Amino acid sequence: MYLGRRYRLKVIPADVAEASVKLCGNRLEVRSTDPAPAMVRAAMEAWYRARARAVFAKGIDDMLAMLRWKPAAPPMRLQAMKIQWGSCSPAGRLTLNPWLVKAPRDCIDYVILHELCHLKEHNHSARFFRLMDRYMPTWRQRKARLDELAEVILNQ
Ligand SMILES: [Zn+2]
Repeated sequence: MYLGRRYRLKVIPADVAEASVKLCGNRLEVRSTDPAPAMVRAAMEAWYRARARAVFAKGIDDMLAMLRWKPAAPPMRLQAMKIQWGSCSPAGRLTLNPWLVKAPRDCIDYVILHELCHLKEHNHSARFFRLMDRYMPTWRQRKARLDELAEVILNQ
């Protein structure tokens, strides 16, 4: 899965210096000299992390531009987690789950906004949810959709 779409995985034995992963139509193609499952898995994980970094950085930029209280761009790191999509430290550092990049963009943006709102409200108070409602009136639907996908995404 990537950005909410399912792709068929195709492993192609190839004489390449380093395993590569590429989206091609409805296929995710992995080229590797060694098509062993562990190698394919490692190549896929590296690809997901690279895509996550790019997609989340763009999402954060877009969302920051929208927020009226103009927070400074927070540092962001990726960390694979089993039960959480993201978090925001008291010092304002965002941690996002790289597997979130498997979810639709709508859901990714919801998680990003949630964490960015924590830069202003470090809790889940009524004020926090008023911020969410103001900037993303549809966040509940997006969250429900992500909750439905969680098992598929996090247990792959
Ligand atoms: Zn929260």
